[in-house]
Amino acid sequence: MARRTAFQVTASGAALRIAVKGIVQGVGFRPTVYRLASEHQVRGWIRNTSWGVDIHAEGSDGSLQAFCRALTEQAPPLAHVESVTSEPAAYEGHGAFAILKSEAQPGAYQLVSPDVATCPDCLRELFDPNDRRYRYPFTNCTNCGPRFTIIRDVPYDRPNTTMGPFRLCPACQAEYDDPLDRRFHAQPNACPVCGPQLQLLAADGSVVAERDDALVHAAERLVAGEIVAIKGLGGMQLACDATNAEAVARLRDRKRRPGKPLAIMCRDLAAARALAHINAEEERLLTSVAAPIVLLERLPTGNVAGNVAPDTRLLGVMLPYTPLHHLLLRQVGVPLVMTSGNLSEEPLARDNDEALERLGAIADWFLLHDRGVYSRCDDSVWFVPAVGQPQPVRRARGYAPFPVGLGFATRPTLGTGAELKNTICLSREEHAFLSQHIGDMDNLETQGYFREVIDLFQSLFHVQPEIVACDMHPDYAASRYARGLVGVDRVEVQHHHAHLAACLADAGCDEPALGIILDGTGYGLDGRIWGGEFLLGDRHGFARVAHLEYLPMPGGDAAVLNPYRLAWAYLDHLLPEAHGSADLGERALLRRMVAEGVNTPWTSSAGRLFDAVSALLGVRSRVTYEAEAAIALEMLAEPDPTGETYPYELREAGAPLIWGRAPERCGPAREILLKPLFEALLAELEASTPLGVISYRFHRSLAAWAAELAALFASETGVARVALSGGCFQNQLLLQLTLQALQARGLTALVHRQVPCNDGGLSLGQVAVAQSVVGGAGCV
Ligand SMILES: [Zn+2]
Ligand SMILES: [Zn+2]
Ligand SMILES: [Zn+2]
Repeated sequence: MARRTAFQVTASGAALRIAVKGIVQGVGFRPTVYRLASEHQVRGWIRNTSWGVDIHAEGSDGSLQAFCRALTEQAPPLAHVESVTSEPAAYEGHGAFAILKSEAQPGAYQLVSPDVATCPDCLRELFDPNDRRYRYPFTNCTNCGPRFTIIRDVPYDRPNTTMGPFRLCPACQAEYDDPLDRRFHAQPNACPVCGPQLQLLAADGSVVAERDDALVHAAERLVAGEIVAIKGLGGMQLACDATNAEAVARLRDRKRRPGKPLAIMCRDLAAARALAHINAEEERLLTSVAAPIVLLERLPTGNVAGNVAPDTRLLGVMLPYTPLHHLLLRQVGVPLVMTSGNLSEEPLARDNDEALERLGAIADWFLLHDRGVYSRCDDSVWFVPAVGQPQPVRRARGYAPFPVGLGFATRPTLGTGAELKNTICLSREEHAFLSQHIGDMDNLETQGYFREVIDLFQSLFHVQPEIVACDMHPDYAASRYARGLVGVDRVEVQHHHAHLAACLADAGCDEPALGIILDGTGYGLDGRIWGGEFLLGDRHGFARVAHLEYLPMPGGDAAVLNPYRLAWAYLDHLLPEAHGSADLGERALLRRMVAEGVNTPWTSSAGRLFDAVSALLGVRSRVTYEAEAAIALEMLAEPDPTGETYPYELREAGAPLIWGRAPERCGPAREILLKPLFEALLAELEASTPLGVISYRFHRSLAAWAAELAALFASETGVARVALSGGCFQNQLLLQLTLQALQARGLTALVHRQVPCNDGGLSLGQVAVAQSVVGGAGCV
């Protein structure tokens, strides 16, 4: 933290001009400063500006010093003070401390607070029959409530939010004006007299109930097994009774989401404990101000319907984070499925009319209100691995748009992210503003949302990008967007290099590492599909020092949904002698496709290896979403005390492929050959080894290979630091076993902790890589 303190001492005292930057607006910072000023006998004023908080302070030397210290030490809980700087100012002789009107300055920027879960004080008022906000679903204060999702522009003042149209009633205005009140300058402040109100609509748009009646009716419909669309904080959610398998099946059917797990909301921690194991770290996340969905180990005794999260021991659980959710969950008395209000992979519906139009065929009822959602924002998802730190799987509500601190300066840069799980990232100075989860770019709605988020981030943080960084893939929609921009430098970043750079930036490391990137698929330097990669390097460049061998993917993307095709093709290629020509039909057709090279890309993907093994073991031969076969395989694993691993073979493959500034020392590239693995798997099946044991040994094998190679490269290159990234590391068993294997060899592992290891973190890595290559190699 920067702090320069000097005083202009006059006969009557000293004066300082103090600048405070960070998240210091909309979090009760000014009332806190007002209180601190009176405690330290400091006079002058404070005001919000476009870059942070501007203070003029007058008092004695000692009191000013104590006051400056208190600004960081006693900042309110939601504030995030990045810097306090001060310089001497002219003594003006103020008689008191005042809070002045905000001042906007062109070009300046400040951090914007994410949305914050209902605080204990507001919760108490919500259920206090004597309080004027009793059962009012939109109560909030400076310590909680909507922020990012309602803000249109900075500075963060009511007219710049979707609360602008609501005129404060005299009682709310008095709170808003009183520096000692919890709602002083709480921009979304509201009450039943002056604020937003609920309505319950039927699917045809007719209003069936209003205000508290709407809530009570909605709860009755939920208990009766019907589906209710709810306008939440960051857009629409779809809810049904999580204990009612029929209701869940109907929701899945209408939403066209056959198998992917659904998240649930429990009324409180005690209710969540009845359904799942919750350790101290998981409790901390669940009850944090961000209140994300946390993936928890399900209890067999819980009463959640099996089809909420079929084939997984994990249950995505969150606690209520708005007054509306608190009221609804207490009213229904059961856990509710609470999932994104969209069709399959489209973005969330935002406005009331849009909800009726897009969700009319899914929901029976619509619980809506008249507070606008400016930015859509999904619920965030986290998990706590058995070893290591909590990691996000999806970063959105409660976290976006809080920046990742890069530790190096950037030119204004836009990273456009990946095709699936897209996020964008905009950098300014050392801040990387990673957007909320945007989604899969294969539909026009998501592509529109993507452009909306880019515009919003550019205007909120006053950034006009000079560089655009995108994935090298020729067909990613996000890359096509980047290639269409004019007047900016463009950097095309290799997918797995971006994963490595994201992991390093996330961990605050700006040194070279061996990136072990186990991933689905990404476009490689050689035009092939990569995904099981060992990249030695940093944000400046990399050498591909090892990779899984290329294997055929007959039918391309169709193979992703039909893992049995991968199993057949891998076996045919690796062990042609073991599986003769007896098979006819589809298998013969696939064999011909591979032989003749018809629509058959070759891939080194680790994700596809998981799919193939899952299908080979008969766990999943067809799937409905990308990681389903791998998840089913992971869930099957039973600890195996033998310590056995399956073999692999290394083949030296000449000089490694290099991009950008290559590491000084690196040996030959190695290919990891998989024939011994498949031989071992067939032998295990032959010997009727339990599938759970085979699954565990397979996970342990990958971890052991990774650690063995990391140790080999450490001895060759002196780089003993390993960065783990790529979507496969959402697999908690793989992550745990890999961390343990690396530790056993004395290697340091860097893992994700602020952004997902999956493609949701890719835009951050693109921005980091782009800084070092503009003007040099790689810049287009
Ligand atoms: Zn509150
Ligand atoms: Zn009011
Ligand atoms: Zn990826």
